[in-house]
Amino acid sequence: MALGVIAVPAASSQQRGHTPKTSELDPQIVAAVKDVSPARVKATIEKLVSFYNRSTLSAADATSIAKGRGIGAAREWIRSEFERYSKDCDGCLKVEMQSFPVSPPARRIPRPTEIANVVATLQGTDPANAGRIYIVSGHYDSRNSDNDNVTDPAPGANDDASGTAVSLECARVLSKHKFPATIIFMAVAGEEQGLYGSAHYAETAKAAQLDIEGVLNNDIVGGNRTPGDKMQQPQWVRVFSEGLPAAATPDEIKLIRATGMEDDSPSRQLARYIREIAQQYVPGFEPKLVSRPDRYLRGGDHMSFNEQRFAAVRFTEYREDYNHQHQTPRIEKGIEYGDLLKFVDFAYVANVARLNAANLASLASAPAPPANVRLATRNLENDSTLTWSASPGGLADKYEVLWRPTTDTDWPPQNVEAVGNVTLATLKRSKDNVVLAVRAVDAKGHRSVAVVPLPER
Ligand SMILES: [Zn+2]
Repeated sequence: MALGVIAVPAASSQQRGHTPKTSELDPQIVAAVKDVSPARVKATIEKLVSFYNRSTLSAADATSIAKGRGIGAAREWIRSEFERYSKDCDGCLKVEMQSFPVSPPARRIPRPTEIANVVATLQGTDPANAGRIYIVSGHYDSRNSDNDNVTDPAPGANDDASGTAVSLECARVLSKHKFPATIIFMAVAGEEQGLYGSAHYAETAKAAQLDIEGVLNNDIVGGNRTPGDKMQQPQWVRVFSEGLPAAATPDEIKLIRATGMEDDSPSRQLARYIREIAQQYVPGFEPKLVSRPDRYLRGGDHMSFNEQRFAAVRFTEYREDYNHQHQTPRIEKGIEYGDLLKFVDFAYVANVARLNAANLASLASAPAPPANVRLATRNLENDSTLTWSASPGGLADKYEVLWRPTTDTDWPPQNVEAVGNVTLATLKRSKDNVVLAVRAVDAKGHRSVAVVPLPER
């Protein structure tokens, strides 16, 4: 053993590396992942497309809802789906419509409009952990070539009926199980108009001091299949995460610069966590981490949460076809335009749902991350001493210290030191050469997201 941990008994330092065997997997998470159904995902996306045009500006009056046309009908249907899942679990989901008015001169809102998020909450079963919230989100509004157009079709099968279907499918499969922490399933609107729904939700949550510990935003996860295209990678999904936190203060940015922590935001740790859980529960389907907030010229609902200091990432298919997004369906010079059902790969969307469900279940089963993680930097020394406060909520059975070279972007699985149920660990390894982190582990092996320390001087 080249690596010694001074502060803990020698026995626990033997447990190095984490290569989970099938026997170590949580049977509840395995069951939830297995329960995800491509047929259910397909039925959801087909239904959402049937509303013809789900623009945030489209019809929401009673007659249109009765006819199954427009965004009003779409949100009533999403609410009824959540309620249906809830009936099957003795009312375990609290289903709400969070609605709010927006009026001109708001950007891209030419007339007074009611915007509504449909929200279903699976309350955590442990009172000491139920305040911890994990969110999965997709946007149910759609658009065609003209963002104000409410009369031509705007099927939005990929953008973003696919992400909405992921949120709904996660609600369906996870509502059959119980978790210590809370999971919220969400379908938001106003995305195409400028992230209105998610911004309202995140601002309200911040004002209410909700402890949102992670947001999984799914937008364009249809795995576009253009006939003849050989570039799509149906075994990959991109996971975008911010490096410098959008809400960092000037002092925080100064500290990030001084310590070289540009690659270690809470959102980036969440992305790494997703990758690790994927290897355990959805082998063969790989999250490709992208170290930037979003694609060029684009944004998404995760950014609304980042703006309020919450960790949030975006899932998007590997290769997008811009002829099949934000386009009025038509054929021009032999090219078919439109965000149509026939370009969606339902098996792919189901894999994205499996990945989301596994991560939500793992996060909501795991202990809270350790708090107040600090790295001693008072003296010049070659050892590294970390301290932390016990994981809030009492689920932690032990802790692990991770490290990686500063030029690596992932925590290598072999660079893990089990340090026991302690709040201080000293590693014979220089903090100057590596990035260190601590995570909490419960008795069954559920792990929290890793937390990088702040320097303590
Ligand atoms: Zn979108």
